Amino acid sequence: MRPETRTVHLPKPSVTGSVPISMPIYQTSGFVFDDPAAFAEEMGRPGGAYVYGRYSNPTVRALEEAVAGLEGGAAAIATGSGMGAINCVLLGLLQPGDHLIAQEALYGGTAAMINDLVSRFGITVSYVPEDDPAALRAAVTPATKLVYLETIANPVGQVADLPAMCSAARDLGLISVVDNTFATPLLCRPLELGADIVLHSVTKYLSGHADVVGGIAVFADEELHGKVWHFAIELGATPDPFAAWLSLRGMQTLALRMERHCANARHLATRLAAHPAVSAVHWAGLENHRSHEVARKVLADFGGVLAFDIAGGRAAADSFMASIRLALLAPSLGGVETLVLHPASTSHRALNAAELARTGVTEGTVRLAVGIEHPDDLWADIEQALS
Ligand SMILES: *Cc1c(COP(=O)(O)O)cnc(C)c1O
Repeated sequence: MRPETRTVHLPKPSVTGSVPISMPIYQTSGFVFDDPAAFAEEMGRPGGAYVYGRYSNPTVRALEEAVAGLEGGAAAIATGSGMGAINCVLLGLLQPGDHLIAQEALYGGTAAMINDLVSRFGITVSYVPEDDPAALRAAVTPATKLVYLETIANPVGQVADLPAMCSAARDLGLISVVDNTFATPLLCRPLELGADIVLHSVTKYLSGHADVVGGIAVFADEELHGKVWHFAIELGATPDPFAAWLSLRGMQTLALRMERHCANARHLATRLAAHPAVSAVHWAGLENHRSHEVARKVLADFGGVLAFDIAGGRAAADSFMASIRLALLAPSLGGVETLVLHPASTSHRALNAAELARTGVTEGTVRLAVGIEHPDDLWADIEQALS
C-alpha cells in the first residue's frame, strides 16, 4: 500500500491476555464488521454489537452499565446532558392528549420543558405535592400516563415520599419517573422504592468535578428501556465518549465525595441554624424541615445542597453574596468546590411571586451546594460574609 492509503488505514492493536485498568476512550464514530449479515442484523438493537456512535459506544455503555448497576436497573441510556435524558423519557413516552402528573417543586429546566409540552404538543399537566399520594390519586384522569418526581428538590430540599407516590402510581397503572440527581444512588435508589425510571444530571454528583455536562436515564425493565432507546437514537442526545469517560472517572470517588458533602452540609446547616442573622435553614437533615420524616425513610443521608434565609431579605442577601470569598458564585452543584447562588435573582428569576412562594424561595434565600473542603474553612467564610 502507498503512504496515502496507509495513513488512512492505520493499524489498530487489539489487547489480548490483559485488560486496561481504566476504561479506554473509544473515540470513534462507528464500528467495522467482517460479516455483512452481522452488520445488517446489529443495526438498531439496544444492547447489541456496536455499530454507530449515536446508537452506542463502549465507553458510553460502560457508563450506562455502571449507573444501571448502582441504581439496580436493567439498562440505561446515557445522554449529552441531564435535560437530554429528561427529553428522551418525556418525549419518548408521551403523545398529544396525554396527561402528566408532576410534583410542584421542579428543577427549572424540567418545569420549562413541561410548559413547552403543554403549549406546543397538547399534553396536559397537574401539579401535586411531592409527599401526597391522595392528591396524586385525585389528579388522575383517563388520559394520565406518567408521574414525575424528584428525590430531593431544589433549592429548599423537599423530599418526595417515593414509596407512597410510586406505589400509588403503580396501582393506577402509571409510569413513575424520578429525577435522583440531588440524592445519587448512594443516598437513594428509587427503582427499589417502586419507580420505573430514574434520571440523573450526570453533570452534578455522578461526574463530580464540574468538568462535564451529561445525563442518564435508568430503567427498571428492558421493555421500557427499548422503547425509549429507539426514540433516543432518533433524538440524538448522545454523549461524547470523552464526556462519558470523564463521568466514569469521576464516579469512582462518588462514595467518598458524598460522605464529605453530606457531613459538610450537616456541619454548616447546624451552625447556620444557630446564627442570629439567619431566619431559616432548609436542609432535610434538620428536624424542623418539612420533609425530615420522609427523608429519614427514603434517604441514607440528607445530601450536600442546603438553602437558608437571611434575616433582612434581599439587601442582606445581596451583601452576603458580595462578601463571600471561598465559596464560588456559580450555578450547578455536585462538584468538589462549594458554590453559592441567590435563587430569586438567578435560577428562579423567571418565577412570579406566587410561584416563588410555592417553591419555598424568598428574596433572602441563599443556596449552598456544599463542596468537600474543610468545614471550618467553609464556616469561617460564611460567618464573615454574614457579619
Ligand atoms: C442540573 C439538573 C438537571 C439538568 O441537567 P443538565 O445536565 O444541566 O442538562 C435536571 N435535574 C436536576 C435536579 C438538576 O440539578
